[in-house]
Amino acid sequence: MAYAYDDQNIFAKILRGEIPNDTVMETEHSLAFRDIRPQAPQHVLVIPKGPYVTFDHFALEASEAEIVDYTRTIGEICKMMGIQPGEGGAGYRTLSNAGEDAVQEVPHLHVHILAGRPLGPMLMRA
Ligand code: 5GP
Repeated sequence: MAYAYDDQNIFAKILRGEIPNDTVMETEHSLAFRDIRPQAPQHVLVIPKGPYVTFDHFALEASEAEIVDYTRTIGEICKMMGIQPGEGGAGYRTLSNAGEDAVQEVPHLHVHILAGRPLGPMLMRA
């Protein structure tokens, strides 16, 4: 089943400038902004500007230019936040929820970058 993109989702509205956001970085194909309900001292969301619902949708259908821009933007944000373990930073977690089992709230691809405290185990035990 192909993905159907809902252009009324909250991140689509942010991209159109209909809702304000606390922008961290903007590039040709990507936008990064602070999460409105941060779950760590640093909590940034990175989204592609194109209409992609999930990571697999983006990874399979986005252009190479979009994929390179998006991936590099995530790297640049880690650098800007000073969280790269290879540069003496304390580390971070990236995650992207997709679909029902992952409880994806907003149906526009977003990678969370969480940092600034010990983040605990990867998943809660059921
Ligand atoms: P998901 O559960 O889909 O992975 O995460 C969606 C994230 O979007 C949540 O962490 C939530 O706090 C954030 N969020 C929802 N609405 C808004 C908004 O209007 N502005 C910002 N900056 N973040 C939002």
